[in-house]
Amino acid sequence: MPYISDRNRMLSCPFCGRSQEMPRQIDMRFGQTTGGRCECGAVYVYDESGRMLGEAFNDALVLLYGGDYDAAYSAGEDEYEEEIITYQKRLHRYVQGSAPFDRSAKYLFLKKTSPVSEKDKQRPKII
Ligand SMILES: [Zn+2]
Repeated sequence: MPYISDRNRMLSCPFCGRSQEMPRQIDMRFGQTTGGRCECGAVYVYDESGRMLGEAFNDALVLLYGGDYDAAYSAGEDEYEEEIITYQKRLHRYVQGSAPFDRSAKYLFLKKTSPVSEKDKQRPKII
């Protein structure tokens, strides 16, 4: 499986392992964010500052709920899973997780814990 050696060179979904396209600008109801959506139903937001402020998380949550702010903000913590991918610029590689005080750029991934419905998969048009 030759892809193993290149695994950390590309951004891949921490939930299903699919490689991801580079994040793109997404129009939100309030401003813009940068991120994308995986085929497995996960969404991610790119946080260049690496500080993982609440903003990136809120954006990701809204994307996860297809732009529905009410659903996103009323979602319980057990309704989704969170994973962080850190981009180590110096080493040109992506690693799962993040160290405290690490200011590397990060990708915050969220995925619903409940089975992803077909409806969810058909909603990526907002992003
Ligand atoms: Zn995925």
